Amino acid sequence: MAEPSRDPPSALSADFMSFSPGDTASRWLACADLQQEVYRHLAEYVPRVLCQGGGVAEQREELALQLMLLAPLEWFLLGGEPAAGLPLLRQGGGEALCGHVFKVGEPTYSCRECAADPTCVLCMQCFLASVHRHHRYRMTTSGGGGFCDCGDAEAWKTGPSCQNHTPADRNRETEEDPVSLLPPAVEERSYSIFSIILQYAVDLLTWEQEDQLPAGLEPQQRSDSYYCMLFNDEVHTYEQVIYTLQKAVSCSQKEAVSFATTVDRDGRKSVRFGDHQFCEQAKAVIVRSTSRQSKPLRVQVMHSALVAHQCFALKALSWLGQIIQYSDGLRRILCQVGLRPGPEGENSSLVDRLMLNDSKMWKGARNVYHQLLMNSLLMDRKFKKLFAIRFAKNYERLQSDFIRDDHDRQFSVTDLSVQIFTVPSLARMLMVEENLMMTIIRTFVDQLRHRDAQGRFQFDRYTAQQAFKFGRVQSLIGDLKYVLISPPPQWSQQLRTKFLDGFEAFLDLLRCMQGMDPVVRQVGQHIEMEPEWEAAFTLQMKLTHIITMMQEWCSTDEHVLIEAYKKCLSALSQCQSGLPDGEQPISLSLAGHTVDTFRYQVSQEKVSIHLPVCRLLAGLHVLLSRTEVASRLPEQLPLGDLSPHLLIELPLRCLVLCAQVHAGMWRRNGFSLINQIYYYHNVKCRVEMFDKDLAMLQVGASMMDPNHFLMIVLSRFELFHTFSATDLRRRFREANKDLAQQNTLIEEMLHLIIMVVGERYVPGVGQVEPLDEVRREILHQLCIRPMAHSELVKALPENGNKETGLERVIDSVASFRKPGVTGRGLYELRPEWSKHFDLYFHHYSRADQSKAEEAQRKLRRQNGEDTALPPPRPPPLCPPFASLVNLLQSDALLALEGAVLQWAGEPNGGGWTESMLQRVLHLVAMALLEEQQQLESSGGDEVVSFTFSSKITRPGEAPSTSGSVLALLESLQSAPHLEVHKDMITWILKMVGNIKTTRERTSGSSVSVSHGRRPEETVRDKDKAERKRKAEMARLRREKVMAQMSEMQKHFINENKELFQQSMEELEAAAEHSPPSSEPTCATQICVGPRRVGGAERHQLVTCILCQEEQEVRGHGRAMVLAAFIQRSTVLSKNRRRGILDPERLDPLFMHPDLSVGVHTASCGHIMHATCWRRYFEAVQQKEQRRQQRLRGHTSYDVENGEFLCPLCECLSNTVIPLLPHACSPDRSVEHPCLETWLKRTTQQAAALDSTHRKQSHGAAQQAEPAVPDGFGVGFVPRNPFSSGVGEMINTFSMSAYKVGLKVNPNEQDPRVPVLSWSTCAYTMQSIERLLMDEKKPLFGSLPCRQDDCLSSLTRFSSACWTAAPIRTVQNHFIRLLSVLVLVPDSQLEDAPCFLDVDMFHLLVYSVLSYSSLHSLDQSGRSSVDSAHLHLLHLVTVAHLVQVLLTSTAGEPSMDQDGEESEEERLTCQLYGRLRDHLGRCLPDVSSGWRLWRCVRAGVLPFLRTAALFFHYMNSASPPADLLGTGPGQWEALCSYLGLPSNLLLLYQNHRTLLEPLIHRWCCHPGVGQVLHGGGVLVRFPRESNRLIDLPEDYSILINQASSFTCPRSGGDKSRAPTLCLVCGCMLCSQSYCCQTEVEGDDVGACTAHTFTCGAGIGLFLRVRESQVLFVAGKTKGCFYPPPYLDDYGETDPGLKRGNPLHLCSERYQKIERLWRQHGIAEVIGHAQEANQTLVAIDWQHL
Ligand SMILES: [Zn+2]
Ligand SMILES: [Zn+2]
Ligand SMILES: [Zn+2]
Ligand SMILES: [Zn+2]
Ligand SMILES: [Zn+2]
Ligand SMILES: [Zn+2]
Ligand SMILES: [Zn+2]
Repeated sequence: MAEPSRDPPSALSADFMSFSPGDTASRWLACADLQQEVYRHLAEYVPRVLCQGGGVAEQREELALQLMLLAPLEWFLLGGEPAAGLPLLRQGGGEALCGHVFKVGEPTYSCRECAADPTCVLCMQCFLASVHRHHRYRMTTSGGGGFCDCGDAEAWKTGPSCQNHTPADRNRETEEDPVSLLPPAVEERSYSIFSIILQYAVDLLTWEQEDQLPAGLEPQQRSDSYYCMLFNDEVHTYEQVIYTLQKAVSCSQKEAVSFATTVDRDGRKSVRFGDHQFCEQAKAVIVRSTSRQSKPLRVQVMHSALVAHQCFALKALSWLGQIIQYSDGLRRILCQVGLRPGPEGENSSLVDRLMLNDSKMWKGARNVYHQLLMNSLLMDRKFKKLFAIRFAKNYERLQSDFIRDDHDRQFSVTDLSVQIFTVPSLARMLMVEENLMMTIIRTFVDQLRHRDAQGRFQFDRYTAQQAFKFGRVQSLIGDLKYVLISPPPQWSQQLRTKFLDGFEAFLDLLRCMQGMDPVVRQVGQHIEMEPEWEAAFTLQMKLTHIITMMQEWCSTDEHVLIEAYKKCLSALSQCQSGLPDGEQPISLSLAGHTVDTFRYQVSQEKVSIHLPVCRLLAGLHVLLSRTEVASRLPEQLPLGDLSPHLLIELPLRCLVLCAQVHAGMWRRNGFSLINQIYYYHNVKCRVEMFDKDLAMLQVGASMMDPNHFLMIVLSRFELFHTFSATDLRRRFREANKDLAQQNTLIEEMLHLIIMVVGERYVPGVGQVEPLDEVRREILHQLCIRPMAHSELVKALPENGNKETGLERVIDSVASFRKPGVTGRGLYELRPEWSKHFDLYFHHYSRADQSKAEEAQRKLRRQNGEDTALPPPRPPPLCPPFASLVNLLQSDALLALEGAVLQWAGEPNGGGWTESMLQRVLHLVAMALLEEQQQLESSGGDEVVSFTFSSKITRPGEAPSTSGSVLALLESLQSAPHLEVHKDMITWILKMVGNIKTTRERTSGSSVSVSHGRRPEETVRDKDKAERKRKAEMARLRREKVMAQMSEMQKHFINENKELFQQSMEELEAAAEHSPPSSEPTCATQICVGPRRVGGAERHQLVTCILCQEEQEVRGHGRAMVLAAFIQRSTVLSKNRRRGILDPERLDPLFMHPDLSVGVHTASCGHIMHATCWRRYFEAVQQKEQRRQQRLRGHTSYDVENGEFLCPLCECLSNTVIPLLPHACSPDRSVEHPCLETWLKRTTQQAAALDSTHRKQSHGAAQQAEPAVPDGFGVGFVPRNPFSSGVGEMINTFSMSAYKVGLKVNPNEQDPRVPVLSWSTCAYTMQSIERLLMDEKKPLFGSLPCRQDDCLSSLTRFSSACWTAAPIRTVQNHFIRLLSVLVLVPDSQLEDAPCFLDVDMFHLLVYSVLSYSSLHSLDQSGRSSVDSAHLHLLHLVTVAHLVQVLLTSTAGEPSMDQDGEESEEERLTCQLYGRLRDHLGRCLPDVSSGWRLWRCVRAGVLPFLRTAALFFHYMNSASPPADLLGTGPGQWEALCSYLGLPSNLLLLYQNHRTLLEPLIHRWCCHPGVGQVLHGGGVLVRFPRESNRLIDLPEDYSILINQASSFTCPRSGGDKSRAPTLCLVCGCMLCSQSYCCQTEVEGDDVGACTAHTFTCGAGIGLFLRVRESQVLFVAGKTKGCFYPPPYLDDYGETDPGLKRGNPLHLCSERYQKIERLWRQHGIAEVIGHAQEANQTLVAIDWQHL
């Protein structure tokens, strides 16, 4: 970048020293023309302070700005020192309004009980101090912008203010002008300075020249310095911008990313600073290289002074925003200044200018002034109203600007509508005074200009740009929704007028939708192109709530309702004026009735699903029926040209269309029609579509002769002739023409009639309350199956307030079942409600219906009831709809019923269907219920006119002349082919009987009616036969299922993940309680040393899972292997900060006690022949290669890294462990040398070997050779005890441990190979010991088999793996290990580490396992391996004792135990005394032996336990009974099992002379002092187990934390995806460019990068905004896991979509923790990816 000439930085510094804001202010006070003076000051200083290119430190710029530019303003305003003056301005009393402006991602709370609408929200502080905390609330995260409504009385029905914002004195608030509280001088100066500054800011922000400045601001000397300014647009992608910048201004990728990020955030960013030409060059390149595909990026070359002034203008606006927070008076003054009309009159105030230029400004500028508007005008009660008026006046213009603009709405001033329109009093004021409702609707309609010849919207011709515009214009509907969200409590005459005006405008809008997107049935050819349908449905969906709200408003005022109804009627008659024209009139007759209509066939002519005008009318009509006007219908409201026939015509066509689609008649019209039909019934649309069509049919039918209604329905269903001509049906059947199609149509039509008569749960149609409707919806959902809260919510329509009413009724119909550790809470229907089940519930889909039917029949069978599902008792109809019931007994319907019943008499006619019959039976039952109900309510006093029961005894007329309906039913009752319907027919006949008796009785005396809902007695015998038959069928079905099951077995685990998981857990649980496999033995069980027992010549027979052959495990036999997964782990790490060392140079021989990174091995326990496994693995490899050629991408496992899935359980594996035979019994013939003898001999041997090795590598020996003990063959080569096959497998696993553990490429020559094998053995053992300890499980016998097998084979493998490595290497390791404890004479190993830096268990394992390499050379026959093991244990234990004493005794509370000192305590004290002798005052003075011993005992216990595990598995020694439980005596049992005295101090005491010098040597290592003085990592024992971090109980605390979290890389930016590491509690900025880093050559996101430092490649995170747990393994694998947070309904809320308060479920969190501690994360990811292939495609590494 070029360095332009400019003032040296020192110039500014000099200014700094001499500048006095006070003096400047005094000058201003004294001057004549303030504006001129201020401008002169700004002209001089603004470019100097803010025009420094990119070079000046931000901090200093900020200081200069404060001192030289802002401070004078404050001095002037206050007439003195601001620090003193400002606080004085604060007026007494708390702030009345909170007004906190939300940051992106900050939690907001809304009370579902008290908020006026869902946009009323509180900030967290206010919420916690409010009454709503104890109400039902909803929590969401803010998208940024908007403010806290605390203190706004209109926003809350109750509790408008929190404790912090309760106004001290309410009267003052409303009465007094706050300006009068200011000192008059301040008031005057505020007016003048506010006007100047605001004017200045507005001028600059709306300034359009690039090279000029407003008058008075021109600098004295113009410098040739410019910025090349890049502006944001929503067209170019991040990548395009970054690429272009790198090219145009030749910056690094990183700088380009930072530029692009800022441009995206602030809307503009200078990308180059320099002279004019230099900047023009860059501009040219940017424009050229982005103009190819689209319009070019916007770039301007701007003079630096102009940019500086614009920057300052923003700072000045922020300053104004801050200063007015001090006083309501100042705020009021600023408001007055802002809204004061300018010189050009209307629309020329400063605020108007800002708003009208909004779409021209860049994002950053918009944000700043929007924020100022929120802090000023919107916080002042009086001016909010005035501002609202300005906003409404400019509304149309602002909206058109916004629609042309390409920025998101949140960056547009139009977004402020939510702050204004949601205040009901303002909204109503604007409606009355500014005609807001009409303005919004008109603006909206104006924007959608594309119409067809009839003036209807036409979306299918939209270009991409128009579609985009359509997307933006929808926000207007949102504004309309705000305005209408709460109906007025009372109406003024003006409001009525304006609302009706708005309503009329709305009808105009609906008329443009009526009949849009018409469809015509496609015959012959399939349609060529799917027609556009989504736009129309989007519109419908968006308007749904508006339409409902309009009706709500109407319903609150009778006058408005009647007027609206009239307007709607006239709109509809205009729409339908041409409907019957040109159609051919016809006359239909059936069952003795005749009706006139016209010919129209849905299947041949145009039909549209969009009928909003009709539907609105239906809604209004139903509302009218609830008022007392209803009784005067239709006299007072003549239908005009609209006969009932016309009213039902269009809705009926639409319903027939649905039926025909169901019947498959519209297949050739493609998916668009299917989708439309789907949405028509969908919960999001049905309220204002399907439901209203049904309502309209009810309206029509209630006004018509029922026979006429039915005939028209028949005719529109194109079924009239099927029922009118006797033999037509038969002829039709014989012709076999689309019979199935016609059957479906008949079914659909019968269903429609059931609904028209039966659906009475809309208030106004039936006599019900609104909640009854909700209850019925819930009930029918729960009749399908128990459901979770969220499922129920989804099935119910939401109102404009996002409420369903669910919570208000759910407890009355359902009981809640809590969730377990998996799954979710469920609601179950209370049994007493199942009698309200209606099989033909209108909102059931066909699938729902059959599921519900099955569930209900099953329930009834379980209760021992018959399986008839008769209709429930319906609520009574409202008077205007009362005549609907006559449909049930109309002659036409009886004829239909008779016809179907007659067809049903023929068993296999094919001319009828079960569904058809079922529906007819249902209709008959409904009629009988109606008659019974009427009889009951009449009480015998009146004559009941509903005489269905007598009508069905009449013989039928045409077409079925056979017999009466009743007779037909009786004949069908015993028909064998109607077995399924038998119960229902029986029910009907019983009912007929009951009614007959009642009628007879009531004719005599009025006795109460018997409630024969169900026949009291059923034919039991027949039932039994029936059950038997069904049982037989069930058996057959079971068998079939079983067969399928075995077919599916292969994929069983995948598909039943959870079940599988459960059964595994059960198995593990069972293992805990089952008696231990090893036989309990006496207390003298010992696992190590010459006296150890067990081991054995036991034969071990295993079966290969691949070839099913049995095989004995032998060293020389065929190799057998165990599938295993090996991974690096930091689960036990006490130090995550230790950087990963260069793997090539890392020396793993000494494990640090902080266990920072370990290698863990797990196995599913499945055994294979090595050869079988190889074949399997090769096949997997080949398959993978072929697959990769076809489609790129990963599998859940990485074959190249040796990963595969266990062929049996599909568990993720990456290696195999060879199975080796058990250890032999100890050689009891050899004597057991004492520690001293053994140590002497061993050090001699070691020294001799060491010297030989050195000689071999360096040639000549420099020193005298140490004596070689006799019988020790330095050059002896022992025989390998394993066959080549077994040896090869030993190699395989060693290499995997090496490769994974060090993250290096395989290298068989590397001396570290055996170390890694031992390491994974030791680490795995340690991690399992911790788990057992923390879960309080016994040390032995509680592990699941697979873990037991894994540990056993892992240990036996490690004790043999030295045979695969060069013996010299292993010997060298042993010598180095030994030298930590003992001085190996003459050896030149100077680098022995400090013993405090060595984990003693690892040392024990390594030295025991490497000792064999030394022992194999000893042919003296005088010592056994076993005694060596015991002595090594002895030595290491003493070393560990000392380690514990040195590190872990300080800091314990000093609490002395009274009473006598025990032997242990005395000896501990003694040893501690000796250590203090060696180390002096490094060690604290602890005199209490009791305390010391307690520390030692606790500190050493984990070591002893892991040692016991180790020797148990190595020597196959059965554990003593005490260790199989957790009872007392554990310590003693443990010591004795390890062959140690239970007073461990005796180990030291009995060999003092030998050990004393060793201890001295350990303590003298320079590292010891260093560690103890805090120079290294001090690890205390026992090491505390790692847990996942503590999470807060309330999820919103996390959200709040995350909202204040800023990206650590991009200077204070809010992070978009804050993600919490559950292991260390670190918050990360995930999934974003800013925080990508390079790890091993790949760019990875913050999470992946973090896993490499924190979890050795494994990570567990909580994505806070999504409420989702993320597991990551390596770079390519990951999965999401349910979070441990549940709402009160026992459900998680991924994505925080529902917003119910979430609370921590500790059981679930423990489950996650256990997964992690068991090293199960990688496996969970593997299973998840296997089950869901889409997970594989996610780019995990960028998270
Ligand atoms: Zn607040
Ligand atoms: Zn508050
Ligand atoms: Zn509340
Ligand atoms: Zn096999
Ligand atoms: Zn397996
Ligand atoms: Zn972490
Ligand atoms: Zn970041």
